[in-house]
Amino acid sequence: MSIADNLKQYKSEVESDGVKLIAVSKTQTNEAILEAYNAGQRIFGENQVQELVDKQSQLPQDIEWHMIGHLQSNKVKYIAPFISLIHGVDSLKLLQEINKQAAKNKRVIDCLLQVYIAEEETKFGLGHDELIELLRSAEYAELKNIRITGLMAIATNTKNEKQIATEFNELKVFFDGIKASFFRKDDAFKEMSTGMSADYKIAIEEGSTMVRIGSGIFGKRIIKHFKADISAN
Ligand SMILES: *Cc1c(COP(=O)(O)O)cnc(C)c1O
Repeated sequence: MSIADNLKQYKSEVESDGVKLIAVSKTQTNEAILEAYNAGQRIFGENQVQELVDKQSQLPQDIEWHMIGHLQSNKVKYIAPFISLIHGVDSLKLLQEINKQAAKNKRVIDCLLQVYIAEEETKFGLGHDELIELLRSAEYAELKNIRITGLMAIATNTKNEKQIATEFNELKVFFDGIKASFFRKDDAFKEMSTGMSADYKIAIEEGSTMVRIGSGIFGKRIIKHFKADISAN
């Protein structure tokens, strides 16, 4: 099937459940992205700052770009002028830098806090206690140019669907607790960014409001090497 066909199928499937589709376009060409765009997709996710900045400048300006990868503080300034949502915020220091760069651009930038739910040790994210500590801190209370709109997580990369469902379910329970404790009166805090091509159906059953689909739409990724360090210029 073509990118346009895949896109339309995912879009109708997830949107009928009231879930937002993020088309993960990392390593894909502008041509491939335009095919999805022309089939109606407007939200795209990238995980490398240099690649994201290049694509944002070259592609239609009404695209909503989401940063879904691990973001280093020293690179926030490159995406602060245009980024719609930063999914993987996992420290107060990063949140403070996003706040600073958002203020410089006279913006409020929406962020999701990344929660560690997987068994694997390599995954980024905050533990439950760390996340609560962050939200309770005086430093967080001072930040006026960021808005936390929900949580993001990546489940263990396993074929064991029961384990994946358990991880997403525990996240949902945690989300509900955080909502009740810190965001009860804040309607903006409502997103759970969970689910990728392999596990999005389970994620939706367990309360996902945003799925991040890459290979399911664009096909298998070709591994390319992008210039790693934008700060060198
Ligand atoms: C690459 C990536 C995805 C998409 O993965 P697919 O398996 O291709 O759907 C989703 N989320 C994050 C954080 C990613 O890095």
